[in-house]
This record gives sequence, C-alpha cells and structure tokens, in this order.
Amino acid sequence: MFLGAHVSIAERIALAPERGRSVGADAIQIFSRSPRMLRRTKPIPPEEATAFREAMPANGIARAIIHANYLINLAGPDDNTLTYSRDAFVEELDRAQLLGVRDVIFHPGSHMGRGEAYAIQMIAASLDWCFEHANAPDVFAVLENTAGAGTVVGYRFEQLAEMMKGSAHPDRLGICVDTCHTFAAGYDFRTRDGYAALLRTIDETVGVGRIRAFHLNDSVGDLGSKLDRHEDIGKGKLGKEAFRFLVNEERFREVPGCLEFPGRDAGYRRNLKTLRSLVTGTNPPTAGPRPGGKRGGRGTA
Ligand SMILES: [Zn+2]
Ligand SMILES: [Zn+2]
Repeated sequence: MFLGAHVSIAERIALAPERGRSVGADAIQIFSRSPRMLRRTKPIPPEEATAFREAMPANGIARAIIHANYLINLAGPDDNTLTYSRDAFVEELDRAQLLGVRDVIFHPGSHMGRGEAYAIQMIAASLDWCFEHANAPDVFAVLENTAGAGTVVGYRFEQLAEMMKGSAHPDRLGICVDTCHTFAAGYDFRTRDGYAALLRTIDETVGVGRIRAFHLNDSVGDLGSKLDRHEDIGKGKLGKEAFRFLVNEERFREVPGCLEFPGRDAGYRRNLKTLRSLVTGTNPPTAGPRPGGKRGGRGTA
C-alpha cells in the first residue's frame, strides 16, 4: 500500500506534495478547494496545475487522491440541493482531470427522510449526469463507505454495489474503504477471520478490484456505533491488528491508503511510523527510492 495522509492546500495546491513528503508520505489526499463552502471558485490556473503535476514525482509521491467537498449530496433530496451538488461535483471531476489526479472520493449522500432506495437510485443518476457534463475522461468517482449515522447511505457494501449497478458508467466508479467507518458500521475485522470475511463481503458486492483507496483511521466509537470519529492508529477501538492485515495485503500493493487523523504533521509522522512498523517483509510499500536514494522524511526522529 502507498501510505500517506491528507495534507493541506493552503496558499497553493502545488505545495501539497512537498507537505506530504515532509510527513513521510508516499501518497497524499487533498481537497481541490475549500471543503465547506459551495460557492463557485475560480478555476485552477494551468500553470498551477503544471506545478502540482511536477511536484508529485519531485517529492516522491506515488499517488494523489482528491476528497470532494463535504456539502455535496448527490442524493438530493430537493431540487436545489441536487442542482448545486451536481454542479459542484462536476467541478471536482474537472479539477481532478486538470491536476492529473485520477480519483475523486466522496460521501455518497443522505436521503433526509426520502428513504434509502430513493437515495441510492438518485446517486446513480447524479453520477451519470456528472460524467456527462464533466470534461474528465480519466477520473474515477470513488464512493466512500460511511459509518451510517443519521440518514446517510453507503454504510453497507451492498448499497455501494447498488449505486454502481444503477449507473450507466460502472467502469468509471470505484470505492474508498474508510477503516473507521467500516468498523463503526458494524464490520468487525480485528481478527484474521473477521478480516477475511470483510474482504469476502466486499468482493461479493462491489468487488475487491474496485477498491481505489483506503482511509486509514482508527475509531473512537465501538463496533457498530455508527460514530464517525477518527483516532490515532492503534489507540482506538479498532486497534493495530486490523491495519497489519491491510498494509500487508498483496492485492492492495498499489492502492493509496491515507491517514485523515490527527491532521497535524507530528501526528501524521507518528501514525505513519506506526503503520510502517506493521509492514512485514513480504509486502513492502512499493514507492520508488526518493531523490537522493533515501526514502525521505520517514519520521525516524
Ligand atoms: Zn474518510
Ligand atoms: Zn470519517
């Protein structure tokens, strides 16, 4: 797995790869714009996009993924929400294409009282609308599984599979597995058997090959709590073993896995160090050597 973290785009988006390197990341997740406002933003200038693309290999970052704006709700449930959500998601896809990022991760949506079946169907329809209106042929829309609080959908892998099945463009869809959400939604993968069962469930629903990214977060809430609160790796209710299974999984060798907690450099360094300590000989992270021959910034201090 390409291990990494969610890093800031403050000042300039092209600084994100360097920020990743400084915490010891092989992969980065970014917002492509402010995540909590939906008013239209100005497009990324082409020279800024070029600078970002060049900064990726220059800092030894193997993969970048984008997390879409939190306010996007492709399930609707009313016309106004649906319209601004679709427009904003099209923008996300376009910005990813410009930056050379292949994956836009998003929370599928909330039904707000209209029912899960309605939401699942509407999300599929919205995705098709967005693909048709975006200019982003190389970008995947990546459904993140949710913890299941409130009226969100996507807390069962069966639901994510239904969204994919309802779309006319399933080849443009993938999933992001958030470890905290998975556990909080009731999937227990703290043991080898539980982990194997989880992979089986994913494979029988969306397909393991559809996993485009992981969010590696421990969980404050207990199994099935539906609580979406992230914790340091090994310090939550999920615990280290689950992460050991994941980081050593041959099938996820080339999949990015990003921390989202605690959001500060020192914490990221510590958590990345913990994750790397779980990697055994058979499946080392596959990022190439850093410029200068050393894998830089690995947080040995
Ligand atoms: Zn997440
Ligand atoms: Zn979360």
